[in-house]
Amino acid sequence: MTTAATAVSTSHLIERIARREHLAHDEWKRVITDAATEDLRRLADDLRREFHPDDTVTYVVDRNINYSNVCFSVCNFCAFYRKPGEAEGYVLSYEEMYEKIEEMIAVGGSGVLMQGGLHPDLPLEWYTKLLSELKSRYGIHLHCFSPTEVYGMAKTFGMSYAEVIKALMDAGLDSIPGGGGEILVDEIRRKRRTECNSQEWLDAMEAAHQLGLKTTGTMMIGYGETVDQRIQHLEKLYQLQQRSLAAGKPGFVSFIPWTFQPDNTPIGKIIPDRLPAEEYLRWLALSRLYLNNIPNVQVSWLTVGLADGRRGLHFGANDIGSTMIEENVISKAGANHKATEDMLVNVIREEGFTPVKRKADYTRLMN
Ligand code: SF4
Repeated sequence: MTTAATAVSTSHLIERIARREHLAHDEWKRVITDAATEDLRRLADDLRREFHPDDTVTYVVDRNINYSNVCFSVCNFCAFYRKPGEAEGYVLSYEEMYEKIEEMIAVGGSGVLMQGGLHPDLPLEWYTKLLSELKSRYGIHLHCFSPTEVYGMAKTFGMSYAEVIKALMDAGLDSIPGGGGEILVDEIRRKRRTECNSQEWLDAMEAAHQLGLKTTGTMMIGYGETVDQRIQHLEKLYQLQQRSLAAGKPGFVSFIPWTFQPDNTPIGKIIPDRLPAEEYLRWLALSRLYLNNIPNVQVSWLTVGLADGRRGLHFGANDIGSTMIEENVISKAGANHKATEDMLVNVIREEGFTPVKRKADYTRLMN
């Protein structure tokens, strides 16, 4: 509960945030614990407007293709993967993916978000040939392979992260999604996944940044982590982005916080409840304020639903994400929200913003 004493102490911190100061860990903790939701919302909305004074809200029409569910990691928050050798494991053929992409292009899509498990047997050439085929056939934006998958490929092929990413870029990779970030603190991470610790994820992401790739940062909250760990996660992304910008690289073009979806996951038996919308919106606002070195923040309507997703546009988000023509990972864990392009455009307009269609790397498209 906010008392007179905490209101005084947080108002001082809020003034410092408004001056774009980077607070210390305990100060951020005090802000997220004690600040009034309206103060957080207003501050985050002000910073959004500073980045995007034209009051635009962007969205993307693309398709999420999960090329394989076979994975040598065991993550107890994941309902998607199958262990190598299990009967329900699959790898999509190139032809199956061409068909999905042609459907996406037919509804005005600009690219593909391609992610999968950490497959132990697919050779590097399977990934590079796929990218070059997709680029030469369709010329679409290829937003593919999270740092976790880059880690998996590097481990499987005995290559460095930079060597893997360079090979993928030469084949047509345009940008990298921030999947597998969850919470980048090993105390919680090693209880939730067997592969790709915090430093490995950050190193793979930094290698992508140094090679000039645009990427997105993410945070998954509500899977048993503490407030301190969420703040540590934000600090690691903030520091990585500072190094990338100092090196003259774009680094993270966007940050996307989302909520853990518990259905059908092993850890869901212990953590069956989704994060309350109010808590998500407070963290969305805090993320906007903390990561004031990343230009875009996306609200995850896919995990919180469109009703709360639209509220996020007033809590610092300037992007509403994708129509998600297909999504297999979080839908298996219970997030089955759907939206067409018209629905997203209407929501953006109803909330008082101008919709602008973009590509996965946040480059704007002509409407
Ligand atoms: S979250 Fe990713 S790395 Fe973990 S088991 Fe699922 S597919 Fe594999």
